[in-house]
Amino acid sequence: MKSKIIRVILIIFLFFAAIGLPRFFKEISGENKTHVIELVAGKYGYTPERIFVNKGDTIIVKPTSKDVTHGFLLDGYPVEFIIKQGGIAYQKYEWEDDAGKLQADWDKVTEIEFTADKSGKFIFRCTQVCGNLHPFMTGELIVAPNTLYYTMIFLSIWVVISLFLWFGSGRRPLQKKGKTLNLFDIIPGLKWLMKRRSFQFFLLFPGFVIFYLFIIASLKGSPVGNHNIAIIIVWILWWFLLKSVFVPLGGRLWCMICPLPAPAEWISRKAFTAVRFIKKPIKGNHHKYTGLGLDWPKKLRNMWLQNIIFLLMISFGIILITRPVATATMFLLILAATLVMAFIFRNRVFCLYLCPVGGFLGNYSMASTTALRVIDKDVCKKHKNKCCLKGSPDGWGCPWNQYPGTMDRNNYCGLCTECVKTCPENNVGFFLRPFGSDRTVKDYSEMYNILIMLVVAIAFSITMLGPWGFIKAAANITESRQIYPFLIYIGVLYTMSLGVFPGIFIFLSRLSAKFAGYKGDVKKLVLQLSYMLIPVGIFAWIAFSLPSIMVNYSYVLNVLSDPLGYGWNIFGTANVSFNPFYPEIVPLIQGLLLLTGLYFGINRVYLSLTGLIADPSKRKKAILLPGFFALAVVNIFLKLYLG
Ligand code: SF4
Ligand code: SF4
Ligand code: SF4
Repeated sequence: MKSKIIRVILIIFLFFAAIGLPRFFKEISGENKTHVIELVAGKYGYTPERIFVNKGDTIIVKPTSKDVTHGFLLDGYPVEFIIKQGGIAYQKYEWEDDAGKLQADWDKVTEIEFTADKSGKFIFRCTQVCGNLHPFMTGELIVAPNTLYYTMIFLSIWVVISLFLWFGSGRRPLQKKGKTLNLFDIIPGLKWLMKRRSFQFFLLFPGFVIFYLFIIASLKGSPVGNHNIAIIIVWILWWFLLKSVFVPLGGRLWCMICPLPAPAEWISRKAFTAVRFIKKPIKGNHHKYTGLGLDWPKKLRNMWLQNIIFLLMISFGIILITRPVATATMFLLILAATLVMAFIFRNRVFCLYLCPVGGFLGNYSMASTTALRVIDKDVCKKHKNKCCLKGSPDGWGCPWNQYPGTMDRNNYCGLCTECVKTCPENNVGFFLRPFGSDRTVKDYSEMYNILIMLVVAIAFSITMLGPWGFIKAAANITESRQIYPFLIYIGVLYTMSLGVFPGIFIFLSRLSAKFAGYKGDVKKLVLQLSYMLIPVGIFAWIAFSLPSIMVNYSYVLNVLSDPLGYGWNIFGTANVSFNPFYPEIVPLIQGLLLLTGLYFGINRVYLSLTGLIADPSKRKKAILLPGFFALAVVNIFLKLYLG
């Protein structure tokens, strides 16, 4: 008992130390300096890309552009100007008119002076649409002491140490076997709704119509990404919602309404909502599908193909998300693939084994706070007909080849709700549960997907959010035409995601197994330990997506009024100016998100090891080195976002 109290006191003490220590890093030299910065703007970066000063220093910026007109808007400071060629700039200033209304004007200048009176990291961004990668044209002003950054580093270490102290206290883990609530019992009408045959169709259909309109918009609308509704809604709004809302809260909720495989499913079923039931089962299924109805090869029933397709797709990530025609091509290719697959194979083979988005949706949905499960597994054991799997007159057999009676992870349940309809025992529920409740990684293809997702989040953070123009140019092959830098870019990406990160993680996990004296199946332990990186990855992706919505929300408003970039103004929002929403607090939120991911990662993996390692002190040893790995990954993100 005494030791527990000491540990808790230590945790509290270390928290205050983590917050207090960075305040001693105020190593500002006595006198403030004046920095004259010859700032050159060019597609799609600034030189210098990072400016380091001390708090209180004076900064004189002498800007010029080496190609087209660019902008400069500094987060957290009232500094904005337009940069022209030949060293000419137009600085924005504001004044109050007689009615007390703020007015803005532009002054022609050659230099801009301001005092760095706030410390931290501040992004400056281009405000003039200067080309395809315009939204990613940024630079960084780092004003020492960057206390927030150092505080986050110390807090990340504190999270790890505190969790280990807590585990060592012998106290109950912070979340044991999570309690679950059947939402059918607490939300009136939800079960009734899900039992309707048309439930999924009506949810899906609006998105289906919008999806086709987006394809037309991509092909017929403005080729400039941020003037085209398809690019803005898909890659800013949808991406943010997918990562921040759908996956953590609803798992594969997106798959429930995804329009991509819908036409293939309708054709293979020859029905939109109806069930075509045949009494005599074909290959154990009471339905006959259009096409050959083959089964997917057993050897390919894993995530390797998804991992490869995802890596190939994100090699051109920056092009996909900035070129409408590239986005349309990707959608059309996926659509074609779903149709071909549905003709050859039964059920959602594309979704299960090929969809590049489906891979990480599956892994990350393990952590989600909702799950579709059977209420009582014993009822399933006794139920002979297994209508959920084979189908019944009330619904199709599971299109995702899942048997709900033993399903214990969200990974491959597409939330189609067919089993809610087919189960004659009313034994299927939709449960609310704690974050991070499914905790088993089953094979290396899943583990690699987890690591690939982490590396891609780092790569995108560097390429899209970072200030390095040469990396953007390397990734932006179709415009920069720099083949060798592009090859190096994807070479590094592949090496990191398939070699370096998995290699280090496996090595550390195996070392941990030895350190903990683990005598069981080491592969199983390594896979289990990789679960730690799922919460870390989810929160890292939310942190990555956050600036895109907080900074670029005005583009969403613009394209709603002018979806094709034709100069329309349907709702009067076409000219809402670019005005990021409190961008200076983005790093703070990102830091907190990353710490949350780290906490959940280590905490949940400790819980997940209970079945493999009974002794708590050995369990602690087993997660020590992978815990350091997660800490290092979080610190890479902290460096990129705050440092
Ligand atoms: S797996 Fe992919 S294609 Fe299938 S429903 Fe989910 S997101 Fe859509
Ligand atoms: S039909 Fe219902 S009771 Fe039968 S196995 Fe499926 S979920 Fe269980
Ligand atoms: S278990 Fe199968 S039938 Fe049930 S919701 Fe999930 S995907 Fe649909």
